[in-house]
Amino acid sequence: MPRPISATLSLSALTHNLHLIRGFAPRSKVWTVVKANGYGHGISRIWRSLSATDGFALLDFNEAILLRESGWQGPILLLEGFFTAEDLTRVDQYRLTTSVHSEWQIKALAHASVSQPVDIYLKVNSGMNRLGFAPERAGDVWQQLRELKQVGEMTLMSHFATADSVEGVDAQMAAINLAGQNIRGPRCLANSAATLWHPHTHHDWIRPGIIIYGASPSGEWKDIAHTGLQPVMTLNSELIAIQELNAGARVGYGGRYSVTRPQRIGVVACGYADGYPRHATSGTPVWVDGVRTTTVGTVSMDMLAVDLTPCPQAQIGSPVELWGNNLPVDEVATAAGTLGYELLSALAPRVPVSTI
Ligand code: PLP
Repeated sequence: MPRPISATLSLSALTHNLHLIRGFAPRSKVWTVVKANGYGHGISRIWRSLSATDGFALLDFNEAILLRESGWQGPILLLEGFFTAEDLTRVDQYRLTTSVHSEWQIKALAHASVSQPVDIYLKVNSGMNRLGFAPERAGDVWQQLRELKQVGEMTLMSHFATADSVEGVDAQMAAINLAGQNIRGPRCLANSAATLWHPHTHHDWIRPGIIIYGASPSGEWKDIAHTGLQPVMTLNSELIAIQELNAGARVGYGGRYSVTRPQRIGVVACGYADGYPRHATSGTPVWVDGVRTTTVGTVSMDMLAVDLTPCPQAQIGSPVELWGNNLPVDEVATAAGTLGYELLSALAPRVPVSTI
C-alpha cells in the first residue's frame, strides 16, 4: 500500500473559475497566470481545462516551452521578460510575448535577429518598485520601441502591490495614467485582487492567478466565499494511528501540546515534507472523517496530530482533508501565518496528484 496521501485536482473547478472570472471583467481578455508550475498544480495537468483563456502568463522559459510543445498554440506572456539577450532566440522560436522592463532589453531587441516581430508588454513601475520603467519615461521608451523593426504589437503593463488591501490601487493608477498619457495602446494591469475589487483597472487584458485556483488574493477566504470560485486542489490523507491519552501527556516534538483531560489524538500521514506548513501549530483547522477539528502540537516531517474529540467515530483509515473542498486552503494558511499562494505552490513532489 502506498502512503495514504494524495492531492486531487478538480479540472471542472478550473474551467468554472475561468468562466466566472470572464464574467467579472466581461470586456477584458484574460491572461491565465500559470507561473510556478501553475501555482503548484502542474501546468501539463491543467492547461487543457483552461484552454478557453486568451493566453497563458508565466515566467520560466522551460514552462513556456512545455506549454508550446504540449500543443498550446495561443499567446504566452513572459511576465518577467527575457533574462539575457540570447533568450530572444527562444522568444522568437516559440512565439512568446515578452515584457520589457529595463533599458538593456531595448538594446538587446534592437540587435536581435528575429524571424517575425516580437509582441511586447512595456512594464511601468507604478509603485511596486520591483520591475519596470519610471512613469515619466514610459512615453519615450514606448516611442523608442515603436521604431524597432523587431517589435510587433505593444501593450502597457503594470502590477499592483496593494489591490487586496485598504490602500487599494489609486496611487498606482495615478502613476499609470501619467505613464500612459502619450501612449495609445492596450493596457494590462489587473491581478486577481484588482480583477475582483477594482473594475476600473480591468482595461484590455487582466492577469488573474490565484483566483483561477479558487483561493483568495487577500489570504482571507471570507473575502471570496460569496463569489462562486471553487477550490481546485484538495489534499487528502488518512488517520494512520490513534493515541488514547491521559491528562499530563504531551504530543509531538518539543512536547508543545499538553493533554489536560482524557483525549483521543489522531495521527495523520501528512507533514511538512509534503508541503503542509510547519508553522501550523495547535489549532489549525483539519477535516477528519467529515468533521472539522484542529491540529495539536508541532507538525513533523511526515506526520501531524489532530484532536479527535469532535469526531469520536474516527478510526484508523478514516479520511482526512488537509485543505480543499471542505476546508479552504486560505483558512489553513491564515492559521499558519501565510497565504494560500504559498501552500498551493509548495505542494511537495512526493505527493501523488490525480485529476477528476
Ligand atoms: N501579474 C504578475 C506580473 C504577477 O507577478 C502575478 C503574480 O504574482 C500575477 C499577475 C497574478 O497575481 P495573482 O495570483 O495575485 O492574481
